[in-house]
Amino acid sequence: MRVLLLGGTGEARDLAEALVADGVDVVSSLAGRVARPRLPVGEVRIGGFGGVEGLRSALAEYDVVVDATHPFAAGMSRNAAAACAAEGTPLLRLERPGWGDRATPSWIWVDTHEEAAIVAGELGHRPFLTVGRQELARFVPKLRDLHVLARVVDVPDVELPEPWELLTSRGPYTLDGERALMVDRDVLVTKDSGGAHTWPKMEAAAELGIPVVVVRRAGGPDGVATVHEVDAVLSWVRSIQP
Ligand code: NAP
Repeated sequence: MRVLLLGGTGEARDLAEALVADGVDVVSSLAGRVARPRLPVGEVRIGGFGGVEGLRSALAEYDVVVDATHPFAAGMSRNAAAACAAEGTPLLRLERPGWGDRATPSWIWVDTHEEAAIVAGELGHRPFLTVGRQELARFVPKLRDLHVLARVVDVPDVELPEPWELLTSRGPYTLDGERALMVDRDVLVTKDSGGAHTWPKMEAAAELGIPVVVVRRAGGPDGVATVHEVDAVLSWVRSIQP
């Protein structure tokens, strides 16, 4: 049994550790976006496959695929669904639940980052953007004149407007740290990433009375079985005979 684990998340690292401990032959795949990624235990490959066709070719080496990419890594999930369907390779999605069940009236849900930029610009002058490096360009047209604080893991490729401040750091974050960072901010923008690592910013926003603009998940490809816990993936892998 050889498992291809599409990763780039904390859950994927937890799963890799559990599979290795279980004696399963697993290869974790990372996109190679982050300069110094946190590496999972076990074998790792880095870089894209070359679209659906490239992934289909790569699947010859694997018996099953687990898609444990980030809830907003929609392209990879779509490709995995298409390639696995075409090759008849079993696919399971491991996805952390979103934050929807903890929403408060001060959260404003939007469908796109462009919409988030509009709403953030209406709500404040000093937005705190925590949407990731790749999305920042989508906020520039609406927020270029505001005193934005943008927190990212790696420096973005795009040039940012002069009043913007860039903070490079990587979670997990603490409530005390988030409160200190957000005390002079008037709106927080986030994806509905879910999980605990970046949750303290939501608590800090609630404490400080700051509205939160939350970008909804688009939803993954239809027909892909999805679980939310590492243990459920382990049971699934054990249930499959190569
Ligand atoms: P994406 O837009 O869904 O994928 C774009 C392309 O990147 C894919 O078509 C694939 O290239 C390559 N790719 C993505 N994930 C890959 C993986 N695990 N292994 C090999 N190739 C991968 O992806 P993204 O949103 O840029 O995310 C990239 C990585 O960062 C993912 O692993 C994801 O789990 C992680 N991440 C994303 C976010 C986020 O907010 N999007 C946040 C935290 C972590 P080819 O077509 O060439 O195969």
